[in-house]
Amino acid sequence: MPTYDFRCGRCRKKYTLTMSISDRDHKKVKCPKCGSVKAETIFSSFSAKTSRKS
Ligand SMILES: [Zn+2]
Repeated sequence: MPTYDFRCGRCRKKYTLTMSISDRDHKKVKCPKCGSVKAETIFSSFSAKTSRKS
């Protein structure tokens, strides 16, 4: 399963969650520190963008 890096939109804590893509779509990502669901996704280890230059 891909690993997603998030940054909390409230306390700015960075955290990593491993979940499937469907889980990510349906789950509310919660900050483990403050419980905020305002999370920014940081793609570092997993590239979701498939824009290819030909
Ligand atoms: Zn937080």
